[in-house]
Amino acid sequence: MQSKVLVIEDSKMAMNIVIKLVEKAGLEAVTAQSLTEARYVFSQAMPESFLCAIVDYNLPDAVNGQAIDFCLESILPTIVVTGRMDATTRNSVLSREVVDYIPKENAQTYDYLSRLLGRLERNKHIGIVVTGQDRRSARHMVSLLKRHNFNTYEASTAAQTQQLLRENHNIKVVITGAELEDQNSTALIANLRADYTKEQLAIISVCERGNDMHSARYIKSGANDFLLKPYCHEEFLCRISQNIELIEHVEALTSMAHTDFLTGLVNRRYFFDKLSAMVPDSDRAHALAMLDLDFFKAINDTYGHDAGDEVLIRVAGILKQQFDDGVVARFGGEEFVVFLPSTPPKLAFKRLETFRRDVEALNFTHAGQTYQVSTSVGLLTVLPEALNVAVSQADELLYQAKKAGRNRIVSDIAAARQRIQSAV
Ligand code: GH3
Ligand code: MG
Ligand code: MG
Repeated sequence: MQSKVLVIEDSKMAMNIVIKLVEKAGLEAVTAQSLTEARYVFSQAMPESFLCAIVDYNLPDAVNGQAIDFCLESILPTIVVTGRMDATTRNSVLSREVVDYIPKENAQTYDYLSRLLGRLERNKHIGIVVTGQDRRSARHMVSLLKRHNFNTYEASTAAQTQQLLRENHNIKVVITGAELEDQNSTALIANLRADYTKEQLAIISVCERGNDMHSARYIKSGANDFLLKPYCHEEFLCRISQNIELIEHVEALTSMAHTDFLTGLVNRRYFFDKLSAMVPDSDRAHALAMLDLDFFKAINDTYGHDAGDEVLIRVAGILKQQFDDGVVARFGGEEFVVFLPSTPPKLAFKRLETFRRDVEALNFTHAGQTYQVSTSVGLLTVLPEALNVAVSQADELLYQAKKAGRNRIVSDIAAARQRIQSAV
């Protein structure tokens, strides 16, 4: 687990700010006030436990960025903080393979540092393919990307690029040159777009400056962005980060749209999407259960809405825990649905019975009073072809469970058995 950040800084004030930012990012600061001390603390820790280093350019025992060299030799992604920003210092910093440099003691800068730390952490889970570049450009790009903790992949043909994407689901960006060995890049982009939307995969075209006309063509054929060569490394990394951030925002929104806010379960709409993707494939028996809490309105009326919410959250927690091999959704107010793929009727019944009893055994307290809750379940054990038909059949069984006195399961096991026998 890379959770530490090596901070080398001799100014007390700057050090305190950086420590706060590191901790805010959920990381642990390992501090040193000089290069000598840094060598010592680093030798006492496990090198793999460090996410990166934040290093002051000018230290009492390393006035010309020697601490940067130490961190780079230790294979740490290195962020340089510097008070001086004259051309010589800037060049001296940038000639080294650092992640980034930031001027010291300015609120904006520290905000940037804070975001950079979060980015470095998340980049460990993101893959980028570099394709259709000459050797030198590819090597340069890969080295820049690695400094930012990305997982990098290289390809020289469209076929290889597509295969990498099929095999590595962490890939979020393809950086492509104009010509690949087996195709030109507009064809590759068009083919990729058939499988991935712009919100799933960012494609960045790299073209020679002077050929600027081409950039529009790439965007039209489906690229998210383009980069003109030669570029400076800051521009390159900013473009990559921006494109990834857009994808992450869309992912966050999509996940919010799929999730019930109160319980964290998937919602009704997403349940149907998810299931239609997985149901028809197997001819084995699946189980679909509709669940509804009994006399739930009375809990709200007696103990208040917050108490009702707590019941929903705890019941959802049990559902998540007991049916994590299936799909569990909150269908509406106090109504849930559980889908168990390839589960024989008897087993499905047994598992739901365990759940029903566990819910019944829960104790809730509000203002010194203790109360319980129960669930009624309609269990459909052989699914018809259409999912919405299955849901309404399970709903009908749930209605029968309510009518029969609540706190019980009504299933179609008997009817299902008959259907199976008459089919044989
Ligand atoms: P039955 O046993 O027949 O199912 O009776 P019931 O009281 O459980 O059913 P009814 O449909 O009459 O009431 C459901 C209640 O659930 C009414 C509604 O205010 C409450 N409810 C719906 N969503 C929420 C929620 O998010 N939080 C809370 N606390 N209550 C909710
Ligand atoms: Mg109810
Ligand atoms: Mg209800």
